[in-house]
Amino acid sequence: MDRDNTVVHRKATTVDGIRKMQNSKYVQSDMRGIYSDVKNQLEVSSAKVLFSGTPCQCAGLMAYLGEDYDNLICVDFICHGVPSPLAFQKYLGWLSERFGEEVHSYQFRSKRYGWGYRRCMISTIEMNRHHWTRVFDPYLMCFLQAINYREACYRCKFNSERKYSDITIGDFGGVREIQPDFFDKTGCSVVLANSEKGLAFWNGISSKFDKVDLSYDEICRFNPNLKEPCKRPDARNSVYVGINDLPDSDYVRKALFPYLSVRSVLSYYMPFPLKKAIHILLGRK
Ligand SMILES: Cc1cc2nc3c(=O)[nH]c(=O)nc-3n(C[C@H](O)[C@H](O)[C@H](O)COP(=O)(O)OP(=O)(O)OC[C@H]3O[C@@H](n4cnc5c(N)ncnc54)[C@H](O)[C@@H]3O)c2cc1C
Repeated sequence: MDRDNTVVHRKATTVDGIRKMQNSKYVQSDMRGIYSDVKNQLEVSSAKVLFSGTPCQCAGLMAYLGEDYDNLICVDFICHGVPSPLAFQKYLGWLSERFGEEVHSYQFRSKRYGWGYRRCMISTIEMNRHHWTRVFDPYLMCFLQAINYREACYRCKFNSERKYSDITIGDFGGVREIQPDFFDKTGCSVVLANSEKGLAFWNGISSKFDKVDLSYDEICRFNPNLKEPCKRPDARNSVYVGINDLPDSDYVRKALFPYLSVRSVLSYYMPFPLKKAIHILLGRK
């Protein structure tokens, strides 16, 4: 994230530079200048390049390059969809008002309390830190319920079995169910090698990971976005209404607040075995 909290694609040539890229930002990134820079690095500098981004950004890069390069590894992630950067800026404006201080940085998933979307972390300019559970975060709740994505995300051609990347990464929420011994509260990711190049790359680094092999079907069962985009909910019709006219706080209260729900709060605090039993009783997967 840039200083003004806009999400941008950047080049890094040092490990420290890569650290700045870590952490998922659930908002569309600004790609300005990146494709030509990648091409330049591949052709003029003959550098090894690892490009990462959403599936559509990887497909865009491949279309721009027009050919594959031995010195390029393209990594995408299993993608729900991305919200508009303007909505995220409005939301930060509301947070600043709420805390009475400008927001310095926002982390969508703080690992301090374990894996997943348990807590986001907001740091203000005075370096005060606030950890919020996701169920009290209106932006994140809309994201997790697939309400606030770009219109194109609901028709995404790149949430499909045809991959344009060498490697796909994602979360593996199914670990608790199908590999309970492998579950760890610090998290479990999924890695798919989509090409010979991707497989060779993964084989070169995989000894650094604790890993188990799973079938593609098992992975898809818990990550449906590997095969298809999210369905567009009716709530999408209202979630951007007023975004260009209303002050930040009014917009957030009017458009995002309705999607905070008591049900989500109950489900969040419910112990896993009880939640699982309820799912079985209701005949859900
Ligand atoms: C918008 C979005 C939607 C996602 N939806 C799902 C999902 O439905 N299911 C699932 O299993 N996983 C999803 N993920 C992936 C998941 O959040 C993790 O990125 C993944 O599990 C890898 O985690 P990590 O901690 O190893 O890497 P991370 O630190 O999360 O980083 C992965 C890479 O993605 C890049 N990146 C981060 N945010 C963006 C962005 N906004 N645009 C482009 N590149 C970005 C980072 O710079 C890094 O190179 C999504 C990620 C994003 C950004």
